[in-house]
Amino acid sequence: MRTVYLNGEYLPETEAKISIFDRAFLMADGVYEVTSVLGGKLIDFEGHIRRLERSLLELGMPKPDAFDELLDIHRELVSINRIDEGLVYLQVSRGNDGDRDFLYPDPEAARPTLVLFTQSKPGLSDNPAARRGFKIISTEDVRWGRRDIKTTQLLYPSMCKMMAKNAGCDDAWFIEDGFVTEGTSNNAFIVKDGRIVTRLLSNEILHGITRAAVLRFAKEVQMQVDERKFTIEEAKNADEAFVTSASTFVIPVVEIDGAMIGDGKSGPIATRLREIYIEESLKAAI
Ligand code: PMP
Repeated sequence: MRTVYLNGEYLPETEAKISIFDRAFLMADGVYEVTSVLGGKLIDFEGHIRRLERSLLELGMPKPDAFDELLDIHRELVSINRIDEGLVYLQVSRGNDGDRDFLYPDPEAARPTLVLFTQSKPGLSDNPAARRGFKIISTEDVRWGRRDIKTTQLLYPSMCKMMAKNAGCDDAWFIEDGFVTEGTSNNAFIVKDGRIVTRLLSNEILHGITRAAVLRFAKEVQMQVDERKFTIEEAKNADEAFVTSASTFVIPVVEIDGAMIGDGKSGPIATRLREIYIEESLKAAI
């Protein structure tokens, strides 16, 4: 049985209990982060904590009391649960003051709820999907306008992943005004004539930690990067496409709405970026 963390305590997963009035449960009033673990070490930890801090600030949510101990808590859970390859999930909610109300509770009366748990994922670095590539569908982006805040409002992305699965595909890309915003749980990229294209940062997409690292590594090896919007038609005619996220790193996309991308196989740039990302992240893991 896993050991999880809840508000200062390490507990068996079946003993970690949260109030039915918790605002993450009633209102999706929570933010989260997912940090990957390779070789028992944390990948891009500082980036995830900086983004968590920003999400909290943007929502006026108090920091949990243990905010400055998050590295120790991550490490402790990885160690207790003997995670070699896997993920650490972290969630902060606005807590509750014992009732349901649209108005935020007084931060003195309601302390934030802090939860962390691990997920063991052997084979995370050697994912068969990275060789085979993802088939994706496109779907209208009807999420809210602050997608830069990593909230637990994940019903629409979850619906769209089910739609993709039911269509025999792996994932979905969101489209707004004809342009690709991002994937259900990843950032979207295309490659045309050797240039890597991905949407520029704004409130319309999550500022992916893996996106930032991959763009940095791409520039370091002299790959050309354009941060701009691209349409789904442009994506279908690209030489390559791929997605990035903390839990999957870089995964090539080989089909979009039934149209084959390039030769329908994992492309060389996506494959190379995956290798570089894993290699460099392992070196910097803590
Ligand atoms: N966009 C969305 C909507 C996501 O849910 C995620 C993964 N949480 C990403 C992008 C990728 O972000 P990261 O690289 O920080 O995991």
